[in-house]
Amino acid sequence: MQTVTLNNGVRMPILGFGVYQIPDAEECENAVYEALMAGYRLIDTAAGYLNEQAVGRAIRRSGIPREQLFITTKLWIQDAGYESAKQAFAKSLDKLQLEYVDLYLIHQPFGDYYGAWRAMEELYRAGRIKAIGVSNFHPDRLMDLIVHNEVVPAVNQIETHPFHRQAENAAFMQSVGVQHQSWGPLAEGRNNLFANETLTAIGHKYGKSVAQVVLRSLIQQNIVVIPKSVRRERIVENFDIFDFELSAEDLKQIAALDTNASLFLSHLDPEAAK
Ligand code: NAD
Repeated sequence: MQTVTLNNGVRMPILGFGVYQIPDAEECENAVYEALMAGYRLIDTAAGYLNEQAVGRAIRRSGIPREQLFITTKLWIQDAGYESAKQAFAKSLDKLQLEYVDLYLIHQPFGDYYGAWRAMEELYRAGRIKAIGVSNFHPDRLMDLIVHNEVVPAVNQIETHPFHRQAENAAFMQSVGVQHQSWGPLAEGRNNLFANETLTAIGHKYGKSVAQVVLRSLIQQNIVVIPKSVRRERIVENFDIFDFELSAEDLKQIAALDTNASLFLSHLDPEAAK
């Protein structure tokens, strides 16, 4: 598996499996198990997804040695704060039945995330977390966090897909050594992504699906992707992106699909902070 090296030297698979919106315990356990059997080693969950226990069961059922896995979970908004972050982290570890996680992210840039970050720095130094990072942070907040704390976030996980490339944000993250990770790499199919003519035509050239073209375009830009599916054939399909290479012209055409706007939520909306 191709990896990226985070700013603390930790290696992270460039392709992983996301489990957002798989609330049913058995369905989630089976999907994660299928993903692990298909070769995925990075699993992306969150306290807010309410499925950490199912993820933990799938990991144990797989029998894959812990050190070969890269497990991410996230701190939910209500647990922002020094004490609450420590408690929330302990609960996540307990649910996952793990001794440590590879990556722990602040899920949203709301509330006392400074307190949370200090707790995470301590847990990181104690070896309970291999790398700490954030999600949904815009450049100004990310810069603020970097300047006023000791540990620079290793990762910022943000909405990124062909319709929202986040080019400016990506350039900023690169300049400060924060790894860009995409959430919603397939835009959850919005904007008719799977029937998009440009993406379909590019796929035809390589005998690849739209999903494979999109995921490939992101990893060729050194962006970590974590597509989600509960269907085995799609889980396998989304993993099969390492045997072809998109040309500079393909990437240019895909870049032209950018609308420079979120298809999901605005973090400037007060409702999002609740
Ligand atoms: P996604 O872009 O991965 O799209 C998933 C959907 O696309 C599936 O439900 C399915 O309908 C479809 N799909 C998947 N593979 C397909 C294929 N090969 N062919 C056709 N259709 C296919 O959406 P997502 O789940 O929102 O994002 C991926 C992961 O990112 C999540 O599971 C989660 O781990 C993470 N995430 C994080 C945040 C955050 O705030 N940090 C927000 C959303 C998602």
